[in-house]
Amino acid sequence: MKYFFYLLLLSFLFSCSEEIEIEKTLPTTPEDLKEHSAEFTKEVIEVTDGVHMAIGFALANAMMVEGEDSNIIIDTTGTVETAREVKEIFQSINPNPISAIIYTHNHGDHVYGASVFAEESDPEIYAHSSTEKYISRVIGILRPIISSRSSKMFGNVLPNEHIENNGIGPFLEIGKDGRTPGLLYPTKVFEDQMEFEVSGIKIVLYHAPGETNDQLFVWLPEKKALFPGDNFYKTFPNLYTIRGTPYRDLAGWVNSLDMMRYLEPEHLIPSHTRPISGKQEIYEKLTTYRDGIQYVHDQTIRMMNQGMGPDEIAEKISLPKHLGNSPFLKEFYGSPAWSARNVFSGYLGWFDGNPSTLKPLPKNEEANNLISIAGGWDNLFKIAEESFKNENYQWALQLTDYLLLSKPDNKESIILRMSCLKALGEKESNPNSRYYYLSSAALLDENYEPNDILAPTLEVVKKYPIEAMLESLKVSVVPEKSIDKNIQLLFSFTDSGKKFSLFLRKGVLEIQPFEVMGSSVQVIAKEEDMKAVLTGLKSLPISLVTGSIKVNGSKADLLSLFSSVRS
Ligand SMILES: [Zn+2]
Repeated sequence: MKYFFYLLLLSFLFSCSEEIEIEKTLPTTPEDLKEHSAEFTKEVIEVTDGVHMAIGFALANAMMVEGEDSNIIIDTTGTVETAREVKEIFQSINPNPISAIIYTHNHGDHVYGASVFAEESDPEIYAHSSTEKYISRVIGILRPIISSRSSKMFGNVLPNEHIENNGIGPFLEIGKDGRTPGLLYPTKVFEDQMEFEVSGIKIVLYHAPGETNDQLFVWLPEKKALFPGDNFYKTFPNLYTIRGTPYRDLAGWVNSLDMMRYLEPEHLIPSHTRPISGKQEIYEKLTTYRDGIQYVHDQTIRMMNQGMGPDEIAEKISLPKHLGNSPFLKEFYGSPAWSARNVFSGYLGWFDGNPSTLKPLPKNEEANNLISIAGGWDNLFKIAEESFKNENYQWALQLTDYLLLSKPDNKESIILRMSCLKALGEKESNPNSRYYYLSSAALLDENYEPNDILAPTLEVVKKYPIEAMLESLKVSVVPEKSIDKNIQLLFSFTDSGKKFSLFLRKGVLEIQPFEVMGSSVQVIAKEEDMKAVLTGLKSLPISLVTGSIKVNGSKADLLSLFSSVRS
């Protein structure tokens, strides 16, 4: 009898180890992307009593919650101009003053409309304690590269009619049609959880890392309404964004979605895409979403542990049909392949484990070797052209990398590269990669005019923290212009009373937020005048002549420091 039991157990185990073929997700098409635009029909929706969502005005939604004698705004859209349009409609619904603004996270499409909503009533601005740091980082040390990559990803360099939608909204408004940012910094911050009441409305904010580390969600217990920020919207989530981002922690994201699920909300009001009502439906959607994220996370790590590198994992990862075919996980924004690379680098960093990538040949040498194998540059060009004609656009594009490394200004290769990028873009249904290809093609055009979507204006720069501006100065030091310099300066700001010691020491700029003994040169200015110079909006020599920046001691030291940095 005992023997029989073991036989049964063995046969059971054996049958369990049989592999089932996983049916994969159907790919989406550019037609599907067009249809997805219906998600962003421009309107203000009353989701439940006194809770309104403005959708379709901008990339992100803005929400208004009506209190007894004042209102609460959750996310503010991405520019002054959009915010004004939304605010007018909100005020026609309820003209009471705005007494609180909540930022779900630091991204520009949620915070840059704030100044408009704060105009009359000077409301408190609630956010996670780390939000300010992330806002400053994007407008500070990373501004040039984030601006350039964002404008490609969102297609800001393309004519408006080329944008079907951006997957999570109709279009990114900043930098478009002269729209400008109206940023305000948070005034009330918290760490894990904060409960408070505004105008008779009970509010609970939960820190919920996910799309960003500073993400929060808003819970209105009496209305059973939950505002998930960007941790939930109707497309595969941006577990990695191609414009560039710090590591997005997938396990934390799943955990944040679980916190939402078990609160059992009856209304889910995301900052992108339309609201959902119905307890059961919301629970199911949140479950699908968290399972999609956990699947990518866990399977990537499983493959990492088998020794695979990011390229191989990105090729292999795919959602199973029951998840990937959900309208909430279609690839209209994020992508499992990009996400898998994010998981890999988040846990293991850049090295893929292959010894040949430890110290690869310089790119130029690799290109020249490959060109020689192909029988010369002209031959490789012919092969690339042939690949393009055979609709092997990706391979043709990769070959133009080599052709242009060897002859960077070759017109024929540039034109071929543009054609590859356009062809890849046209057949792409993921808006981020679609516009990245198409924008990259547009940028290769000789007549292209650059568009800095985060270009600062004097008005905006005044609100930037001086600390973020000085951080940018550090990462702009050019070694070739400073390797022989030793300069010490003291910056004193007359309006804020802040002092900073700057040491330019042979290619490294040390900045300390206090006075260090030994500096004989003192630079005295108002913060806004220094910020204007630091961002290139005003010239240093003119500011010295007009006296908006004064120097006690050698002006030459200050000029020498500024001549060592490239903004
Ligand atoms: Zn967003």
